Amino acid sequence: VEESMRQSEKLSVIGELSAGILHEIRNPLTSIKGFLQLMENSSQVNMDYMRIIMREIVQIEKITNELLYFTKPKREHFTQLDLSEIAQETISLFETQAIKQQTEMKISMNGENHLSFGDRTQLKQVFVNLIKNALEAIPAGGNIVINLWSADQEEHVTISDTGKGIPEQAFQNLGKSFFTTKATGTGLGLMVTYTIIKNHKGKVTVESEENKGTTFHLIFPKAHR
Ligand code: ADP
Ligand code: MG
Repeated sequence: VEESMRQSEKLSVIGELSAGILHEIRNPLTSIKGFLQLMENSSQVNMDYMRIIMREIVQIEKITNELLYFTKPKREHFTQLDLSEIAQETISLFETQAIKQQTEMKISMNGENHLSFGDRTQLKQVFVNLIKNALEAIPAGGNIVINLWSADQEEHVTISDTGKGIPEQAFQNLGKSFFTTKATGTGLGLMVTYTIIKNHKGKVTVESEENKGTTFHLIFPKAHR
């Protein structure tokens, strides 16, 4: 009975989420259709409409990208992995964007490696989502520091930025689907991030001060060699 209960709870969460996703995709689709119809009726390409259509397509693309790897992690995809390696790879991914906005990114760590156990693609997504948010919180000229250290049974990672911070009243909404304060945000990044961390038996806490910056603190179980 308990298992079937859990199963139906899971289904309703999925149901709620997909209703939200469909809604978030339908809005831009409606707008794309509307502007295409306007152009069709006037038999002319309107560059302003084209820009709106492009913006809406990009929004749909963002939503689908954020949810691409958001599946239940499969045990058979779990391997031993080095969190510092994933952090390094992710930083490389954002190098050009960081240079463009004059943001310095660096990693500092103790020891040689930080081994945990998990789905590499999903854990990479965690780093991507958090570093992306950090970069988006920094207007121009700032820095992002990733710290890694080992404790007894745990691997700790902090991702700190000198960005605009998170206002007090936004805190309770972090990780809720579709919560965003950005004009073209999806509000899916943290929801996906928190779910992946939970599926890896990890923990996450956030500290933030407005106009100072934000630190996300992740704790993962340590993998023993
Ligand atoms: P999105 O980035 O699409 O808005 P997320 O789920 O990634 O969605 O983030 C939700 C919200 O949390 C953001 O809109 C922002 O208000 C806040 N947030 C997350 N990370 C940071 C950060 N590092 N600095 C400031 N605000 C943040
Ligand atoms: Mg985000």
